[in-house]
Amino acid sequence: MNVLVLNSGSSSLKFQLIGTDLDRIQKNTDARLCRGVIERIGGEAIISATVGNKPRSVFTEPLANLPAALDFLVRWIVSEESGVSDIQSSSDIHAVGHRVVHGGEKFSESAVINDEVLKDIENCIDLAPLHNPNNVKCIQAVRKMFGLKLPQVAVFDTAFHHRIPEQAYLYAVPYHLYRRHHIRRYGFHGTSHRYVAFRYRFLNKLTREQTRIITLHLGNGCSAAAIDKGYPVDTSMGMTPLEGLVMGTRSGDVDPAIVNLIATKEGLLTQEVESLLNTQSGLLGISGLTNDMRVLQQELKEHDDRRVRVAIQVFCYRAKKYIGAYLAALGGADGIVFTGGIGENSPEIRKQICEGLEWFGLKLDEGKNQEAVGKEERITTEDSKIHVYVIPTDEELLIARDTVRCVLGEPHPS
Ligand code: ADP
Repeated sequence: MNVLVLNSGSSSLKFQLIGTDLDRIQKNTDARLCRGVIERIGGEAIISATVGNKPRSVFTEPLANLPAALDFLVRWIVSEESGVSDIQSSSDIHAVGHRVVHGGEKFSESAVINDEVLKDIENCIDLAPLHNPNNVKCIQAVRKMFGLKLPQVAVFDTAFHHRIPEQAYLYAVPYHLYRRHHIRRYGFHGTSHRYVAFRYRFLNKLTREQTRIITLHLGNGCSAAAIDKGYPVDTSMGMTPLEGLVMGTRSGDVDPAIVNLIATKEGLLTQEVESLLNTQSGLLGISGLTNDMRVLQQELKEHDDRRVRVAIQVFCYRAKKYIGAYLAALGGADGIVFTGGIGENSPEIRKQICEGLEWFGLKLDEGKNQEAVGKEERITTEDSKIHVYVIPTDEELLIARDTVRCVLGEPHPS
């Protein structure tokens, strides 16, 4: 089955075409046919695409809106020029899997999109006004283009966190706010945490029940999850992705009273302060330079910039604090997993986060940590009491696999 995986943003569309089925899932032999992103939809869009193992190609095309981008993408995939193997016409695309940001309290698993599911996703727009509308538009555009016969599946960023208990999801605010407006912790990056937790237990030959770990997704967005018996019992992102760890441009945890304070002192609306916390804060806000960790690390090496140093320190300290909190929440853990662009690629950041955690038996293997760039690796010594892993995430693969399982009516794997 060829599954087109779509992740639609406000002006971008990330895509991946994956050939997979139950047998290939079992054997871990899914085929990556092509992947890429269309950016700046609404004007002269930039398309970057990689087909199989060929070098990436980048080209432009005027694309007025999401349906136009989707139409272009499918025409490009089936064209001879793209060179995507196994695809001669649009009927060679057998299903579409969508990354949907918010599934609210309703969705604990991925779901085949019918009218009712689409309505439920629309009902979650209130909870994720910046994200879910793009997902809905994308689902509708696919329907319009392919008709109702092509199965579409929604894979929710929140679903993996669905079992988080009340003690972790309730905010200590008047309970009627939860009742009336569903104000609570939902958590995000669920597909990523789920994928790396799966890989961890696969690598260690453990069952889901035996999996007690802390997962750290450190990318542009960052989140941590405390996983017990294979499912999160707590996670750092909250009602929205703003809470928790320090991120590229998001502040993570702040004293909520500063929202009004900043608004008053700076003459801003509270929505503007929220936007400042989402887009002007985090690594970018403290360093005053960039949200890009690679550039910050380079800058630190070359110029030893004080604000860059402190931005990285705040980033690492917050992550360390969450590890401590989750060790307490879990009553100890057997593993810590780093993933996401920073977690997968930066030995320095991993080292800085793990420093000072020797007291509970964490012994980093310096050599292995240095080596583990963009690949699966254990980075602790043999005798470390808790093992730390680098596991590159693969949300698209999980979305493609869920799509196959949902379309075939297969139960979710245990
Ligand atoms: P997103 O959350 O948008 O998917 P990614 O997971 O791709 O983002 O992570 C982006 C972050 O990862 C950026 O801050 C980038 O600088 C960082 N990153 C990527 N490669 C490296 C590297 N080799 N060293 C340090 N940071 C890196």
